[in-house]
Amino acid sequence: MPDQGQPVARAYSDFHLMPIAGTWRKGRSAKVNQDRNPFDGELLAEIQQADRSDLDEAYAAARKAQPAWGAAVPGERAAVLRRAAEVMEARREEIISWIVRESGGTRIKASLEWSSVHAVMLYAAGLAYGLEGRILPADVPGKEGRVYRKPVGVVGVISPWNWPLQLTARSLAPALALGNAVVVKPASDTPVTGGLLTAKIFEEAGLPAGLLSVVVGAGSEIGDAFVAHEIPRVISFTGSTPVGRGIARLAAESKVLKRVDLELGGNGPFVVLEDADLDQAVEAAVFGKFLHQGQICMIVNRFIVVDRLHDAFVERFADRARRLKAGDPDLPDTLVGPIINQSQFDGLKEMIAKAHETGARQIVGGEPQGLIMPPHVFTGVTNDMPIARNEIFGPIAPVIRVRDEEEAIRVANDTEYGLSATVFTRDLERGVRLAQRIEAGMVHVNDQPVNDLPNNPFGGEKNSGIGRFNGGWGIEAFTTDQWITVQHQPRRYPTDAGQITGPWASG
Ligand code: NAD
Repeated sequence: MPDQGQPVARAYSDFHLMPIAGTWRKGRSAKVNQDRNPFDGELLAEIQQADRSDLDEAYAAARKAQPAWGAAVPGERAAVLRRAAEVMEARREEIISWIVRESGGTRIKASLEWSSVHAVMLYAAGLAYGLEGRILPADVPGKEGRVYRKPVGVVGVISPWNWPLQLTARSLAPALALGNAVVVKPASDTPVTGGLLTAKIFEEAGLPAGLLSVVVGAGSEIGDAFVAHEIPRVISFTGSTPVGRGIARLAAESKVLKRVDLELGGNGPFVVLEDADLDQAVEAAVFGKFLHQGQICMIVNRFIVVDRLHDAFVERFADRARRLKAGDPDLPDTLVGPIINQSQFDGLKEMIAKAHETGARQIVGGEPQGLIMPPHVFTGVTNDMPIARNEIFGPIAPVIRVRDEEEAIRVANDTEYGLSATVFTRDLERGVRLAQRIEAGMVHVNDQPVNDLPNNPFGGEKNSGIGRFNGGWGIEAFTTDQWITVQHQPRRYPTDAGQITGPWASG
């Protein structure tokens, strides 16, 4: 219940419009996005999409608005971020409800996502003070070297549908805090939670107009132009590996070169050694595999269990998986909600058929209802089967039996991906030694792999991406260094090669 006398904010509306260059309006494309609830098909919003001219306006407004924002005192930018966190508090239920209805996230997932984004906003407020420079020694008499850290200018953010509020916010909030302007392109399945909702929050928090535009548009219509455009200096992309590769290629070939940060797909190994605490491992396994019906980049993709514990682990894990509640995501104890759309769902059905075909043994399963797919567990999986090689992105758990620690590491690393991984052992230092041998950007000893904290480096190796989010890594991502030197006394230049005896620059 709100405090008596405290005004109750009206729920946000008008999600058929998008904020472009400071005005909420329709896009100019002929295409319409029908935003639907994946659980019951309810139409949530109909959005006339953005075309190339909308994109141009959004980028031009961002470029125009950025210098004043970048020059504002850090406290002014920090205050907007803090107010955004306050708006989120006042609208917690409304935000959670949007995540549930639009992305098919369960209440558990939606609450976790809200908390992560709220933490990102508060952390980013502090980042506003992060533009620190340096004074460097110079090998030239009278020369002073200074390094000024500056916002890059305009940042383009592209986010996926699976954890949309956070995957937009973790780029958007630090980028704004550090003095940049931002244009967001959300995924077609989540235009509201991937961008429009965040824009409403920032508008209410007092962000000056034009600094944040959201273009809801088809990848096929504005995707390439969004990346190749000459205004953005950084493209912060989270999504699949094939699309990420295309974006890197486009950025390299665009008229003006730009930086790309790529947070891509995963094939997370969950290694259980013979000395693991079985209860803890099974609880972590259930959460780390089935949260958001497995549609998370960091989720467990393969369970790799040492022979001695394999059967006991499988028995308990399967038992827990069978008892998980799958269905209406709006019920507080549902862990497995709907798959985001029919095409993802069909891909999972195909994966299950392929697992059978290639000799894996299904020990947990069940008939789907609509887009709800109940948990599936396969044993007898080998690392060359498609179900082990591909990113599953669904509630399907393959278990691979290995002889020992060495084989576990070999199998864990035998993948093109390297995002998040897990090692379970009672010997913590053994766990850390093994973690260091796993080719992944993030490894968690005795925890499940879905972790993203605003001050810890988030990112992948190999085909899981380039770059890191959060903390000081976020400062690197959204700023650039400028070296400025000052010559305090007249400098003598060599007139003869014989005079150059020391470092090139001396004299
Ligand atoms: P996707 O790659 O299909 O789409 C991601 C975004 O890119 C969407 O907004 C989409 O509209 C846009 N897009 C598509 N084609 C484009 C183009 N040509 N130019 C510009 N933008 C384009 O990914 P998805 O299906 O939305 O999300 C699932 C994938 O994202 C999985 O592979 C998952 O592992 C990955 N993911 C990675 C992370 C991470 O942090 N590493 C986090 C979440 C999801």
